[in-house]
Amino acid sequence: MSPTTTTYLGIPGYVIFWGLFVLVLALFAQRAYKLWSLVRLGGPDSRLDGAGSRIKTMLLYVFLQKCSLRRVTPRDIAGVGHLFIFWGFMFFMVSYLIYIFIGDGLGMAELIRNSAFSIVYSYILDIAGLLVLGSILWAAVRRYIVRPVRLEPTAEAAYILALISILMLSYFSIEGFFLNISPEPSTPVRQFTANIFSGMDKSVQAGLFTGIWWLHYGLILGFLVFIPYSKHLHIMSSPFNVMFRNLKHRGALVPIDLEKTETFGVDRIEKFTWKQLLDGLSCTQCGRCQAACPAWNSGKPLNPKKVTIDLKELLLETGPSLLKMKGTGNKQPTGSEAPAGSTSTEAPHHPDMVSQVITEEVIWECTTCRACQEECPVLIEHVQKFIDMRRHLTLERSQVPETALNALKSIESRGHPWRGTTVTRTDWTKGLGVKTLAEERNVDILYWVGCTASLEDRNIKVAIAMAKVLQRAGVNFGILGNEETCCGEPTRRLGNEYLFQMLAMKNIETFKNYGVKKILTSCPHCFNTIKNEYPQFGGEFEVIHHSQFLAQLLAQGKFQIDSVPFGIATYHDSCYLGRYNDVYDQPRQIIKSIPGLKVVEMGRRRNKGFCCGGGGGRLWQEETIGERINHLRTQEALDTGTKVIATACPYCLQMFEDGLKAKNADEAVKALDLAEMIEAATAKRR
Ligand code: SF4
Ligand code: SF4
Repeated sequence: MSPTTTTYLGIPGYVIFWGLFVLVLALFAQRAYKLWSLVRLGGPDSRLDGAGSRIKTMLLYVFLQKCSLRRVTPRDIAGVGHLFIFWGFMFFMVSYLIYIFIGDGLGMAELIRNSAFSIVYSYILDIAGLLVLGSILWAAVRRYIVRPVRLEPTAEAAYILALISILMLSYFSIEGFFLNISPEPSTPVRQFTANIFSGMDKSVQAGLFTGIWWLHYGLILGFLVFIPYSKHLHIMSSPFNVMFRNLKHRGALVPIDLEKTETFGVDRIEKFTWKQLLDGLSCTQCGRCQAACPAWNSGKPLNPKKVTIDLKELLLETGPSLLKMKGTGNKQPTGSEAPAGSTSTEAPHHPDMVSQVITEEVIWECTTCRACQEECPVLIEHVQKFIDMRRHLTLERSQVPETALNALKSIESRGHPWRGTTVTRTDWTKGLGVKTLAEERNVDILYWVGCTASLEDRNIKVAIAMAKVLQRAGVNFGILGNEETCCGEPTRRLGNEYLFQMLAMKNIETFKNYGVKKILTSCPHCFNTIKNEYPQFGGEFEVIHHSQFLAQLLAQGKFQIDSVPFGIATYHDSCYLGRYNDVYDQPRQIIKSIPGLKVVEMGRRRNKGFCCGGGGGRLWQEETIGERINHLRTQEALDTGTKVIATACPYCLQMFEDGLKAKNADEAVKALDLAEMIEAATAKRR
C-alpha cells in the first residue's frame, strides 16, 4: 500500500506527487538563480586556489560542524543539538531521495521495504528522528525560555521549530500506522508508535496513514520552497561560503591596486566582492559574533550580526533594480560622484550604505579584534568589510573621526601617531649602549621598536626592558633609530590604504638597504603587519614577536630566571598576537618560568580572549558610547584576584594602565609587559 499508487479523483497519486515535486524544484531553481545573480553583482575575488584545503574545510565545518560545536560560554552545548539536527536531516534527506526516486515516487516502495538495507536504515532513521525531536525541544526551550541574548525569539524561528517537530512526529506516525495496517517485524520505536494507534479502526488508520503521508511530504516540499526566502537560506549558501573561505593569511587585509583603482573602498552593496555578498546570504543569525563582540558587549551600536543581516537585506532590496540597471547598461555614479546622503541619481531610492544602512559610528567602532570571525560557524568575514567601508570614508569622503584624523596626519608628517610627544625615537636608548644599524649594520636581528614603545611614556619602559634583556642574553641586535617610521598598521586599519602602502614600501626599502633578514617586534600590530602584510609589497622577512623570542631564549638557557615577588599574574591575549597569529603558548611559558609566580587565567582567553579595545585604530578614537571596553576587560582581570596583568602588546598595556587607574586599582595591581617581567626576573644576574 502506498499513497502514490492510490488514485485521487481519478488522478494517480504518483502524478500528483511528481507534479508537485517538479513545481517545487522549478520554484527552488528560480529563486536559487535569482540569488546567484545577486551574488554575481559583487566584484571579483579569486577563491579557486587550494581545492584540497577547501574540501577539507567543507568537511570540517559543514559535515562535522566544527565551529557550531565550539561553546560560546563554558556551559553552552547547543552545538551538539545543531549537529544532531543537521545529521538527522541528512539521513532523512537520503531516505527521501531513495523513496522519491525508487520507492513511493515511482510506486515501488514494496520492492525496497524489506531489504536488509531498508531494515538497517529504519533503525538509523528512528535514532535520527528521536535525536532531532529532542534537539528541537531543547532549541525551543533555549530560544523561548532560557533565552541567551544572542538568540531572538522570532516568529520564523518558531515556525521552523514547529515544522521540524511536525515532520518528525508525522514520520513516526506514518510508520506506526503502516505497521498496524501491514504487520511485519520492525524497530522498537515503530512498534511503540504502532501500539499507541492499535486501538483504532484499521480503515481509520489507513486514512490517517495516507493523510499524514501527504502532509509529511507536502511539508518537505513546502520547506524547499520556503528555505531560499527565509533565514534558513544558509542551508543552501553556507556550504559554498565555507568552501570559498579566505585561504590567505587571516592577518593580511586585501590590498588596493592604487595604480588601477579609480575609486577607493566600498560605499555601495555591489562594490563588495561576490564572496562578501555571499557572506550575507550565508548568515545563520546564530548571534555568536554578537556575543563575542567587544563593541556590542560594551553597549555600543555595533553588532556584527546586525551588520551582516543589514547588508544582506540591502542586497535583497536593491539587488533586483541593480540587476535591471546592469541589464540596460546604466551605471550608478561612483562614490566620489555621489553626494553624501544619496548614492545615485538613477537609483535615488537606494539608501546611502555607509551612513544610512551601516552608520559611520558603527563602521568606526570595530576594533578589528576578529572575535566575530573566530566564532562564526559559516566563516563570514566581517573585518575586511569594515575596512572596505572605512577606506571609502577615509579616501573618498574624508569622513574620519577627528582624533583618528589627527593620528593619520601625524603619521603622514612625522612618521608616528603620537602627537605632542616630546621625545625622539632614540631618546629611550640613552645610556643603554643600543646601536642603530647606521652605526653597526652587522647584527643578527633588527629590533623593530615601534612608534608606541619608542615614543609613549609608559611603553618606553618596555623598550628599555627589552633592550636590557637582549643584552643579558647576548643577542647581537640593532635598531633603526630615527630611520624607523610607523609600520603603517593604524593607517591601514583606519582606511588610509594609500598612506599605508607608502609607509610599507619605505620600510621595506630601508630593511633591504641594510640587508635585514630577521626582525624582532614587541608590538603584535607591527608583527602582524610586517610579517603578513609586507609580503604583499615584496617585503619577505623572518619576523618574530618578543614573546616568541623570549620563549626561545629561555628554552636555550640564555638567562637564569629568579623569583620576583609579583604574587599572582594573569595573561591577557592580544588579538593580533593570538587570534590573528596563533601565539598563545609562548607568553604563558614565559610567565610560568618565573619561580613562585602563581598564574591564573581569565574566563575569556586564548582564541576567545576579549579585546582591550585599542585595535583597529580605536586607540586614537574617543569612546563615548557605552562602557569603555578596556574597563570591562580590566574588571575581568581584577576578578581573578591577580596582582599583575601581563601583556605582550603596547596598546593593551596602555589600555590596562588606563583601566586600572579608572578602577582605582593601579596601586594594588600592575599592568606589565612580558619583557618587563623577564627584565625584573633577570636583574640580579646582570
Ligand atoms: S572585529 Fe571585533 S569589534 Fe569588530 S565587529 Fe568583530 S568582534 Fe566586533
Ligand atoms: S555572522 Fe556568523 S556568527 Fe554572526 S550571526 Fe551570522 S552566522 Fe552567526
